[in-house]
Amino acid sequence: MKGYIFGLLLFICFNADGQDSLRIPLSGTMITLLGFGPDTSGILLYNMHDNENSSALAGRIVARHYGVRYYELMHNGKRNISFLLGEDSIHIDPNRIYTDTGVWQQLARNKNTDTLAFRLIASWRDSLQNALRINQRTMVFALHNNTDHNYGFKSYMPGGEYEAEAQAVCKGCVRDKDDFYFVTEFPILDKLCVGQYHAVMQANTTLTDDGSLSVYCAGFGIPYLNVEAQHGHLFRQMRMLIFAYQQLVRDQ
Ligand SMILES: [Zn+2]
Repeated sequence: MKGYIFGLLLFICFNADGQDSLRIPLSGTMITLLGFGPDTSGILLYNMHDNENSSALAGRIVARHYGVRYYELMHNGKRNISFLLGEDSIHIDPNRIYTDTGVWQQLARNKNTDTLAFRLIASWRDSLQNALRINQRTMVFALHNNTDHNYGFKSYMPGGEYEAEAQAVCKGCVRDKDDFYFVTEFPILDKLCVGQYHAVMQANTTLTDDGSLSVYCAGFGIPYLNVEAQHGHLFRQMRMLIFAYQQLVRDQ
């Protein structure tokens, strides 16, 4: 039965009308921003890692159901975007470039300190942000997948790797620690904490600027949440996204 439902969902998704695409090349490498649904509500659903397919499917299905705008960044099917700059291959994480500090950090990981390379990536990032209309959004729903055990809400609890990045953690009753919300504002956290899912509130005043979208949104006061689930947890991620949408948007 589950397989039938899954097939039906796939059919609905890939026959979605109102699909459009925008090409945003980076140093000759083609990157596509695939868009679905009407852009009338100020709400953005966004999947930026090309290997996070449960996120992508959940985004397409839920956006279609609620009639909101959903974008998907497509490049090489992998997490990182790779492009050639002269003789060098550069690899950047599309969730580490939303601030200039993040772009420089990504270049440093490539052992590159070239101002030209910085300008190239920053300019590409600006085009992407303009297309997404990030600064005009009333709510950004980022969609991510993670791998089993490596990263979860417990990473933000005392003793965890990212303890210093969290201001508050709200422990839900779902057993899987990989499935959780990551948010930038207390009103969002409070509305999500009444549910069964884990939620983490970013430490906006003391955070490390790693160039991620949550850092950017916190800096500009754009309400942001990440619906994070383990790879393959499609139905869980859909339920989490629907719950968040109902709590934060539909019932307002
Ligand atoms: Zn991701």
